[in-house]
Amino acid sequence: MSILELDDVNAYYGNSHVLFDLAMSIEENEVVGLLGRNGAGKTTTLRTITGTVPRREGHISYRGRDISDESVDSISRAGIKLVPEGRRVFPDLTVNENIQVARDTCADPRPIEEMYDAFPVLADLRESLGQNLSGGEQQMLSVARALVQDPDVLLLDEPTEGLAPVIVDDLADVLSDVVKRDVTVILTEQNVDFTLSLSERAYIIEKGSNVWDGSVDDLRDRDDLLEQYLSVG
Ligand code: ATP
Repeated sequence: MSILELDDVNAYYGNSHVLFDLAMSIEENEVVGLLGRNGAGKTTTLRTITGTVPRREGHISYRGRDISDESVDSISRAGIKLVPEGRRVFPDLTVNENIQVARDTCADPRPIEEMYDAFPVLADLRESLGQNLSGGEQQMLSVARALVQDPDVLLLDEPTEGLAPVIVDDLADVLSDVVKRDVTVILTEQNVDFTLSLSERAYIIEKGSNVWDGSVDDLRDRDDLLEQYLSVG
């Protein structure tokens, strides 16, 4: 049975219809990339899963349970955690305090030391303030804050956004270890290479509809798709 299933999902911001009959089926412990151009609907897809878009229709089920009408809190407590775009860390708290605050919101967290094992860069910075971290370090801290809550499903929204290419490589290295854990990951990206390096399967979204899905091995050879929907190739 799949862990997360989206069945003809539609989403709206006010009168603006943004997702159109979107269907996805995610297996437990899979790493799935969600690709598409700017404005295609990737962030909205993640926000629909977490319950934060104003209005959604269709069905979303998580481990066989219909969560379509559940609250944001209830979905989060069930184990679906979003790392939003833009690396939201607390600037005036240290790295350690940032992780602690996230851990304290959760009934059954992972040990903080495990996060430092996963992100050795953060271990060296544990007493540094959030505001003094580089973009890549802040992204790692954002992921650590989600992981300490022991998620079942981790949603990563454009983790490479605004990062220099060399930092993107570092982040891919660290995340490739993280995604080997017992966690299901959905990753939205415009950076195709980064997505291909981390994911096993991908969906391409265009104008709020799912236009292709398949293995990343197949996608690597599909220059036509990459060019048509992602402007690369
Ligand atoms: P990006 O890379 O820019 O984040 P995306 O694929 O994640 O792109 P979304 O952010 O999901 O795309 O946006 C999908 C569509 O919904 C776009 O047309 C966008 O303008 C619109 N949209 C996003 N957020 C809102 C909002 N809060 N209110 C109204 N429209 C919105």
